[in-house]
Amino acid sequence: MAEYDYDLFTIGAGSGGVRASRVAAAHGARVAVAEEFRVGGTCVIRGCVPKKMLVYGAHFAEDIQDAQQFGWTIEGCSFDWKSLRDNVLGDVDRLNGLYTETLENHGVTILHQRATIAGPHQVTLADGTAITAKYILIATGARPHIPDCPGHEHGITSNEAFHLDAIPRRMLIAGGGYIANEFAGIFNEFGASVTIINRSDQLLRGYDEAMRDRLLQISLTKGIAFRFNAAFRGIEKREDGTLLVSMTNHDDMEVDCVLFATGRVPNVEGLGLEAAGIGLTDKGAIAVDAFSKTDCDSIYAVGDVTGRVQLTPVAIREGQAVADTLFGGQPTSVSYDCIPSAVFSHPPIAGVGMTESEARNRLGSIRVYQSDFRPMKHVVAGRNERGLYKMICEGDNDRIVGIHMIGPDAPEILQAAAVAVKAGLTKADFDATMAIHPTMAEELVLMR
Ligand code: NDP
Repeated sequence: MAEYDYDLFTIGAGSGGVRASRVAAAHGARVAVAEEFRVGGTCVIRGCVPKKMLVYGAHFAEDIQDAQQFGWTIEGCSFDWKSLRDNVLGDVDRLNGLYTETLENHGVTILHQRATIAGPHQVTLADGTAITAKYILIATGARPHIPDCPGHEHGITSNEAFHLDAIPRRMLIAGGGYIANEFAGIFNEFGASVTIINRSDQLLRGYDEAMRDRLLQISLTKGIAFRFNAAFRGIEKREDGTLLVSMTNHDDMEVDCVLFATGRVPNVEGLGLEAAGIGLTDKGAIAVDAFSKTDCDSIYAVGDVTGRVQLTPVAIREGQAVADTLFGGQPTSVSYDCIPSAVFSHPPIAGVGMTESEARNRLGSIRVYQSDFRPMKHVVAGRNERGLYKMICEGDNDRIVGIHMIGPDAPEILQAAAVAVKAGLTKADFDATMAIHPTMAEELVLMR
């Protein structure tokens, strides 16, 4: 008889939980995963994946406009939100099925209910069943933060944005980060009148300033409005369904929809962390060591619930590392250095490594190379929208410490360049590489 019911019990079947469970099972562990909502987690069900599909859908608005300059006549062109929404949700169902299948094919038991920790080796399911496991993995993710203001219940979050019945005529988006800028781009292209309000005067903190400025400038040109230093005071719902939003430093505003995109908070409540003596960080996330181990030796945590870097590929790496550490005989930690990331705004931003100001503060002497260009496609289309690429190098040896880009397909292009930055290549290595002409990507090897 085995000492425990399972070798690994995972709470949460999102990106990190699914990867850890699948790989642990492949290493020969007996694994169960509890998921109270849908297998796939935020990324697949109500985050990155459906968001990216909406980004594609939104882009056609400009593509169709531009096509006319390329000789195409498009008659009777119209947009049907419900058909895009339902196609996207249909694909989410497909992916949910695939993720479930992957777990089942690896012999992972899926329990569709909430689980809480009852001790270092014990969980309790919502139906009262007690289960024991040699190791427990917490992968419960995060949820949207909603500012505590009167009437906040009248607003929605990104979770609901995928299910709207119609595109709101006037939309107010609170927050100036990833989600705010991505959904502003999406709904603006679908014809909504979008205003972003942010409590500070900065968008996308953490990204290079020049990229943020360029995005602001292009977003304004596209018709997105901004209000800065505007903290929420409250939302009043009127009889006709419109929302009256009050905020600091600005006039009240009447809109049809308020979307909160003000950060995400780790899902730690009601998990029973105290039953195993698991502590939190000062930001309310589960505290873990370099191997994702919590304060309890038999309990690990990965992904957004640990508040390290709230990105899907990071959660996946962390999940993989835990499985390899516990069941693959290979203690593995994740490198958080040089993580490339992107904002799927219109146009998108992508970056890896240090921003110019970070590098200046940390290294002192740096060199900055730049290319500010108008993509060929935009020239013919008559679209006055410039791309900007920037390379930050260490002053004495020209080692590249950061690359930042804004422009069409920037995330697609940056992924390959990120390999070079992670590998510690220099500006001279880029200069020695022949350009592929004519492309936007060639600007990477032509920067001055
Ligand atoms: P972000 O952290 O990107 O931005 C949060 C924004 O909300 C900031 O502008 C912040 O202002 C503001 N804010 C924070 N707290 C409050 C508050 N209490 N009241 C009012 N405003 C507040 O969060 P998002 O919600 O956009 O996204 C959450 C996370 O999800 C991201 O950090 C990212 O890790 C991940 N994500 C990644 C994506 C991608 O990879 N493309 C896409 C979407 C999400 P201030 O700047 O002043 O602090």
